[in-house]
Amino acid sequence: MKKIIMCLQVKSVDTESILTLSGLSPDDNGRAIVCSAENMVGQTEASLQLNILFAPTILTLLSPERDHHWCIPFTVTGNPKPELRWYHNNKPLQEQDYIRTMIHVTTENQQHGCLQLVNPTHIHNGEYKLVAENKYGRDEKNISAQFLHPPNINHTGQYSVFSHESVYVVVGIAGVALIGCVLMVIILKYGRNSKFGIKGSSSVISNDDDSASPLHHVSNGNNTPSSSEMGPDAVIIGMTKIPVIENPQYFRNSGSMLKSNTFVQHIKRHNIVLKRELGEGAFGKVFLAECYNLTPDQEKIHVAVKTLKEASESGRADFYREAELLTNLQHEHIVTFYGVCVESDPLIMVFEYMKHGDLNKFLRSHGPDAVLMADGQHSILVELTQSQMLHIAQQIAAGMVYLASQHFVHRDLATRNCLVGENLLVKIGDFGMSRDVYSSDYYRVGGHTMLPIRWMPPESIMYRRFTTESDVWSLGVVLWEIFTYGKQPWYQLSNNEVIECITQGRVLQRPRTCPKEVYDLMLGCWQREPYMRLNIKEIHSTLQSLAKASPVYLDILG
Ligand code: AMP
Repeated sequence: MKKIIMCLQVKSVDTESILTLSGLSPDDNGRAIVCSAENMVGQTEASLQLNILFAPTILTLLSPERDHHWCIPFTVTGNPKPELRWYHNNKPLQEQDYIRTMIHVTTENQQHGCLQLVNPTHIHNGEYKLVAENKYGRDEKNISAQFLHPPNINHTGQYSVFSHESVYVVVGIAGVALIGCVLMVIILKYGRNSKFGIKGSSSVISNDDDSASPLHHVSNGNNTPSSSEMGPDAVIIGMTKIPVIENPQYFRNSGSMLKSNTFVQHIKRHNIVLKRELGEGAFGKVFLAECYNLTPDQEKIHVAVKTLKEASESGRADFYREAELLTNLQHEHIVTFYGVCVESDPLIMVFEYMKHGDLNKFLRSHGPDAVLMADGQHSILVELTQSQMLHIAQQIAAGMVYLASQHFVHRDLATRNCLVGENLLVKIGDFGMSRDVYSSDYYRVGGHTMLPIRWMPPESIMYRRFTTESDVWSLGVVLWEIFTYGKQPWYQLSNNEVIECITQGRVLQRPRTCPKEVYDLMLGCWQREPYMRLNIKEIHSTLQSLAKASPVYLDILG
């Protein structure tokens, strides 16, 4: 046992005495010293607790460990409690939600904690220095940390996710080069101006000779959503058309979607009266319009029309093929396609109008960050409830069950490609036309191709393999979007970091408002092996029973 030397100095008989203690250490902190005085008429005593002030020491600083998050553990001593600062590669580290000091246990003298890093990537690799300082001194220690390997950028500026597996590098570069060549050939041969990169010459639509009627009134675009309305993802890049990887299903000339006897309805231009702009997709503007004589029971109905400007011959062919495809996709949770108008430029596709627009915008405007909406006298907080989220989710799953039954692989399922109508009716509304407004959701590879990597499973990122199972992965991401009120998946990471995370097996975290059952579904969608993923029918029936168990009150969303 350690010996404390005590020395009592008596300064004067009546008044003051001083007790000097030496050989003390921080371990003696908190010990009580009792002073007792006694004479022939009595006794008294007083006590105090030792409070030993001393400079900090970093007792341990360990290599990063991974539990739920990454953590660099440390133990420091010092009294008063030292202030802790971190440096990463000699630069002061700014703490925020994703990188911060967590103190787990505090004892008399020691603090045990860690520097917590949520989803660190290669940019977080390097030397970490911890500095502990109080007014009696300072201490510092270094530790090096390696989270992910840095990505390889090859000489063409393309990204390879296979940094350490040379065989994959060859396959990846060859794949990208091959896709690049194919795209070049398609672009050179056909000169495209839409997402409708469909080969094939046949048109099932006979050209009607009603070209004299121009489009009717178009408002001045005051209702065009601004980029700020679209949320932080929004980047409007004008009329630029972004080449995309085609959905090869458009090229199919057999199977259930492209039936030989498909009849695409032709709508006369004078029956379409444009009202206002709704948005802009990759191939042209989208307008709200009134359409006359479309259905026998109503003289006119609201429709959404998509325009395709300055179509080349091949662009027109693409347009017709997509019209055939859309004509054959009919389901209560797939947006209704009414027909086309091809009398003159611009070519037009006519769809049912979905009052609340795209689901991503809708989720953001019904999330915790959305403002109160006034309804005259009262203000209603329009935050979506969990049961409404389930209701939305199960409708999208129903649409996906249908697409899978038609052997249609969507390849770009995301909330931006779903539409919301009255009474929280949700439909899959787009087969890849929303890349302008949501361009930050896509990753440009090889200069041209845009990929929605944040929604893609490892095999689609690595080998461009798209299947019903890869759609299931994307559906899991859609569930995550719904339960985060429309956040961008991996919003804290750059595109290259997302590719690393996904290919190395990380998955998105459970959103705060998400029930365990739903997160389990997400995890079932994000199994690395496609065959291990949940079946789309199972997902739908689970969501359906969860939604049934918590009924939806729709009135505020009419
Ligand atoms: P898209 O070209 O399909 O990406 O459409 C661009 C934007 O137009 C979407 O983000 C929606 O806000 C809007 N939009 C597209 N289709 C419809 C529709 N059927 N009903 C209402 N709004 C639509």
